[in-house]
Amino acid sequence: MTEKTLFEKIIDREIPADIVYEDDLCIAIEDINPQAPIHILLIPKKPIPKLSDCDNNDKELLSHLFLKVSEVAELCKIPESFRLNINNGASAGQEVFHLHIHIMGGRKFNWPPG
Ligand code: AMP
Repeated sequence: MTEKTLFEKIIDREIPADIVYEDDLCIAIEDINPQAPIHILLIPKKPIPKLSDCDNNDKELLSHLFLKVSEVAELCKIPESFRLNINNGASAGQEVFHLHIHIMGGRKFNWPPG
């Protein structure tokens, strides 16, 4: 059996986290090292390592996640303006290899990102 990812341990309540939303398919938690006043991680319960590992079987899950973003942003009081980020692969800055969407808000963001 493969080792659980950090986020699976959070989903299974083996590691504590500030959970802001949860349903059958996903969980949203506060990032432990926030890069904005509001920084949420929206995580599918299915431990897909990264976005590019998704296939057609994940269509419903991906659409669920992306439709959930606005609901989570509203719950977290950043309904109007937020930045989404998905790091795909180590050189793109991914550290936790369990797909997640960063939802950040509460400050101005620059473009292009660093
Ligand atoms: P990434 O670099 O895209 O893989 O993002 C991983 C994110 O997980 C980082 O923003 C970390 O701050 C965050 N993180 C790491 N450990 C925890 C934890 N125990 N609880 C909440 N967020 C975490």
